[in-house]
Amino acid sequence: DRNAIEVIGVSKIFGTGEARVAALDNVSVPIRENEFFTLLGPSGCGKTTLLRLIAGFDFPTDGQILLYGNDIAPLPPFKRPVNTVFQNYALFPHMTVAENIGFGLQMLGKPKAEIEARVSQMLKLVKMEALAKRRTSQISGGQQQRVALARALAPQPKVLLLDEPLSALDYKLRKEMQIELKRLQNETGITFIFVTHDQEEALTMSDRIAVMSAGKILQVGTPWDIYDKPAERFVADFIGETNFLTAKIDNVANGKAKATLKSGKTIPATVAEGFTPKGEATIVVRPEHAKAVKGPGELSGTVENIVYFGTDTHILVRLDDGDLFTVRQQNSRSASCGFEEGERIGVSISDDAAQVLKD
Ligand code: ATP
Repeated sequence: DRNAIEVIGVSKIFGTGEARVAALDNVSVPIRENEFFTLLGPSGCGKTTLLRLIAGFDFPTDGQILLYGNDIAPLPPFKRPVNTVFQNYALFPHMTVAENIGFGLQMLGKPKAEIEARVSQMLKLVKMEALAKRRTSQISGGQQQRVALARALAPQPKVLLLDEPLSALDYKLRKEMQIELKRLQNETGITFIFVTHDQEEALTMSDRIAVMSAGKILQVGTPWDIYDKPAERFVADFIGETNFLTAKIDNVANGKAKATLKSGKTIPATVAEGFTPKGEATIVVRPEHAKAVKGPGELSGTVENIVYFGTDTHILVRLDDGDLFTVRQQNSRSASCGFEEGERIGVSISDDAAQVLKD
């Protein structure tokens, strides 16, 4: 696979002295051609800054950004084959849907016939043919989102940057647009770099995800990698729900190990890439990979709380060593979860559920 973008040792420092902020701190990541790539992290971690550097709205303090192998530093934003969809869409309210979509092409001085053909193709792509002549001030938020996408896609950029494009939409529409965006990316084959702080959105849409915190990329991988094989506490904690346990790790070989829990029981575990054995370590177990049992399990404790979520039930167990552990089990229609608050229970951990963090 070719790389569309290579971010190499990029830092971005704002301010000086007391006010100095490293918005990006020596970030390196290759982004492949035709990939749906997501930058995921909490507010202030540097996602928008990285997009702005790729778009050319700002310059790195240090490092390089390559586009298909060439340094893009000398190119002003409008000369980069890169387009951005902003959170607030930034449409022109006095123009029609079609005029908005054609705007970029017009700026590029394309012939009228070509613009018309391309606009109608884009209208079809985002399913807005019926509203082509409406002003964008007279369409809904979801429709505005489609127009913003069509406008950004019309000049056929090599890379499309999307900065939290769905955050203004309500839950249902957001779910619809997630599917829609994924379809658009598939159909156009354009490399998407998508920014979100919503972990579920990142997991459902991305080919690969970069998890960011405080100006650094902590882990890059497929949604499955990120969810099931987190390497660091922050990644495990930010994505989904997780139980953290302390365990003694030995017999490390071929990415596997033996983890001895504080209960004295031993379970098999997978070790994160980059793990160096040092006696005790933190292991993570997802709530759905553990089961509450009536008899003894690898862990034991007392049911502290039972929370019903419709599709599943969370059973919060106060372990004998004092830690809290969450078990998630699927609900059936006919029976309750089978446990009561205050009950002594065992917790059984599925084979291959335990992941040892790097540090
Ligand atoms: P959000 O999700 O809230 O948009 P983000 O992950 O996109 O957050 P950035 O906007 O990239 O984060 O900001 C990263 C850090 O850099 C923050 O601490 C922010 O305050 C700081 N920062 C961003 N732009 C500037 C600027 N122009 N001047 C000074 N500091 C800035």
